[in-house]
Amino acid sequence: MSNQAFPAKINPRKWAEKGSSWTGDLPLSHFTRLVESLQGSAGVVKVSMEFDVDEERIRFVRGDLHAQVEMTCQRCLESVKLAVESNFSLGIVWHDEAAANLPSHYDPLIVSDEFVEMLPVLEDELIISLPLVPLHEDCEVKTEYGEAVEEVLDERPASNPFDVLTQLKLKK
Ligand SMILES: [Zn+2]
Repeated sequence: MSNQAFPAKINPRKWAEKGSSWTGDLPLSHFTRLVESLQGSAGVVKVSMEFDVDEERIRFVRGDLHAQVEMTCQRCLESVKLAVESNFSLGIVWHDEAAANLPSHYDPLIVSDEFVEMLPVLEDELIISLPLVPLHEDCEVKTEYGEAVEEVLDERPASNPFDVLTQLKLKK
């Protein structure tokens, strides 16, 4: 599958007027701020974005982002693989005041210059889509050993489940 090169810096208003779009994969490692919250930067972000002008003559970009990321489970502190998805709809405006007047189905994309770097825009959408507290759906430490184990884990962030068992036995 061949991608056209990612349009890193574009004139979003021209893109909207032409009804242009872009679909492709970007390496997760390009999203450096996002990667700070992750356990690794392997993988890709699937990007689809379409620019257009609506009936009210508002220029907008609408898109979808999908990525598989690894974060730290906040219960067992092991790695957890999560799917991150974002669907966004951004009204392209020149300044704050225009942003306030956008219909509520748009979030504002304030572009006070002629051009905009799209990667940070997509990155912001991904960052707000990350779970605040990443957890395994069925975290074994919790389901098997209950709350007492969580206290021990809080004291010993790097411990494995066997250390925890030993500690519980010592406490009795
Ligand atoms: Zn877990």
